[in-house]
Amino acid sequence: MAADIIDGKAFAARLRGRVAEHVARMVAAGVVPGLAVVLVGEDPASQVYVRNKAAQTLEVGMKSVEHRLPADTGEAALLALIGALNADPSIHGILVQLPLPRHLNADLVINAIDPDKDVDGFHVLNVGRLATGQEALVSCTPLGCLLLLRERLGDLSGAEAVVLGRSNIVGKPMAQLLLRDSCTVTVAHSRTRDVAEVCRRADILIAAVGRPRMVQGAWIKPGATVIDVGINRIAAPERGEGKTRLVGDVDFDAAAQVAGAITPVPGGVGPMTIACLLANTVTAASRLHGLARPEGLSI
Ligand code: NDP
Repeated sequence: MAADIIDGKAFAARLRGRVAEHVARMVAAGVVPGLAVVLVGEDPASQVYVRNKAAQTLEVGMKSVEHRLPADTGEAALLALIGALNADPSIHGILVQLPLPRHLNADLVINAIDPDKDVDGFHVLNVGRLATGQEALVSCTPLGCLLLLRERLGDLSGAEAVVLGRSNIVGKPMAQLLLRDSCTVTVAHSRTRDVAEVCRRADILIAAVGRPRMVQGAWIKPGATVIDVGINRIAAPERGEGKTRLVGDVDFDAAAQVAGAITPVPGGVGPMTIACLLANTVTAASRLHGLARPEGLSI
């Protein structure tokens, strides 16, 4: 194997350590950063995410508040809760777990969150601030990818970056972040004519398509840095009947023969997402109280 493995789990642990240090300083100054997570319905995957978020929030010394609402909660009740959290001075970050039940308009709900408490970075104002080079709260997964890239490569300026995928939560903000760090950015998607050829140009390749092992070894430029955002559960009969395992959007074994560095799945980008949520919360709390922002935890 030629490539270095980028250990997202270890980096996320260090990031949480830095968040905890900053939280301790804020607590000493009389401010306890608080994160509120709102879950509507009983989607099993969402319940696991929310539990993990709450546990890690408490671990770094912040206040964690959970609001679990029934699946048939109406829009008015949800908007009233968001209004109350917006007005609550002990809450600095608000996250509404997606997906929401189908009868709720996710855009309306997300845009009801105070943009300065929008620690998921999904509010249109934060998306606009990111795109126009202003201070913004940024979507956690792409922020995690950027921090991994900066740690590995230092200055990214001038690099050819290809982002595979153009979703609002990963692909588009990722492209904005790379552009902001002065990369030459190409965004590829399902209508791109020759995805393999586009990928071969990349010094930095971000794969966020949700297709198991789609990116092949022959698509990678020798020495490239490959960040695999994909989380796909596939059958793993070799582990026993009915067993499954997680794979990324990149064919890891083949890509690792060619790339200079690559994130594994699991243990790459995944752990960075909650760490960046905590970083965003401490950043939001610092801004809301006019305190110094933590170094290196935000853009
Ligand atoms: P979406 O389904 O919202 O977007 C997928 C993107 O991939 C779309 O832009 C789509 O193009 C593009 N795409 C799909 N098929 C192809 C193809 N054959 N060739 C080129 N482009 C293609 O996914 P997300 O962005 O939400 O997530 C992507 C992956 O990242 C998933 O595996 C998800 O589980 C994972 N993820 C991981 C997170 C983490 O914490 N590590 C957090 C969030 C997501 P088009 O727009 O044209 O349809």
